[in-house]
Amino acid sequence: MIASRILILGCGGYIGSHLLDRVLAIPGVRVTGWDTSSAKIDNHLDHPGFEFHRAHLASPEAIAALEPHIARADVVMNLAAICNPAEYVSHPLRVLHSNLFDTYQVPVLCAQHQKWLIHFSTSEVYGRTIASYLPGNTYDDPDLYELREDSTPLIMGPISNLRWTYASAKQVMERLIHAYHEETGMPYTLVRPLNFFGPRMDYLPGHDGEGTPRVLASFMSALIDGTPMRLVDDGKARRTIVSIEDAVDALMLMLDNPTNAQNQIFNIGNPGNEVTMRELAELMRGIYATITGDDGYRDHPIESVSSLDFYGPGYEDCDRRMPNIENAKIQLGWTPRKNLPDLLRETMTAFHQQYVAQGG
Ligand code: UDP
Repeated sequence: MIASRILILGCGGYIGSHLLDRVLAIPGVRVTGWDTSSAKIDNHLDHPGFEFHRAHLASPEAIAALEPHIARADVVMNLAAICNPAEYVSHPLRVLHSNLFDTYQVPVLCAQHQKWLIHFSTSEVYGRTIASYLPGNTYDDPDLYELREDSTPLIMGPISNLRWTYASAKQVMERLIHAYHEETGMPYTLVRPLNFFGPRMDYLPGHDGEGTPRVLASFMSALIDGTPMRLVDDGKARRTIVSIEDAVDALMLMLDNPTNAQNQIFNIGNPGNEVTMRELAELMRGIYATITGDDGYRDHPIESVSSLDFYGPGYEDCDRRMPNIENAKIQLGWTPRKNLPDLLRETMTAFHQQYVAQGG
């Protein structure tokens, strides 16, 4: 790996914890990580190649403390974000601040020091598909729904729909980073993740957090706690799901191939793993029956709930997220490998062990 000094902002989150597992296994790599919590990465705190800073990026003091670390790094990876749709609607100011105002100094400093910034954006910047606005909502033409990094327009709903606070903050960050590249030559990579699923994603309400996590943890919470799996707006929305291991493979290939990774935008997702949320719920209850050996889970209750009742006013869903991943294939030689049943079985087994077998 060419980059040997890596600065990771938001290293203690779900993706960061899996990234640390991989980079810290490489001899000679030095990682400096920042986060507000180390709960998911406590196993790495004694690693001689890892220096952890428990800090929030929001204050001018924190940014001043960060600058020497940026100056020393070969690459800066910014994962710090609030990425949970329930939060976009219930705490829009917190979402806008954390994803834009608290973090815009990172590209400013990377430009000053001419450091490579790998910034985690979101597939939500695409908003809704063109197809969803056309009469009949037809999806027979990939030009109307497939998400392509360099040509698909970014379409979001009205301001009253708070769902788009996150996507719009992320979009401004993407434009800011690209503008710094254009005007100063700062190298950058933008990553647009599409539903990475794996162990340690989010939290289970009442176990290790409170609120409404994303769909994987919401459905796991229903299965583990014996409550109905709740399908928002009948579970018609579609997502493609990629395993966290495949996703981290893509990140490692970026670190291995800076020439090909720099000044690119990458969709990281698995087009072969598309499901509606109803199909996902049905698949997960069948797999949980196999994991637990309890056939009763095959009929675990699934109930429909309106998005208004589930999230409150201001929610609007992304109808479909079908990534074109040619850029990652061509530039990085990356192809996602894990199919949906396999990645769900592995992920759900890890959740079961963490929250049921070990009583987490
Ligand atoms: N969803 C659902 N039940 C839940 C949680 C989420 O039906 O308990 C739906 C949500 O409305 C959306 C999809 O699942 O259509 C994915 O939501 P998630 O929160 O995982 O994030 P997103 O993929 O929208 O970023």
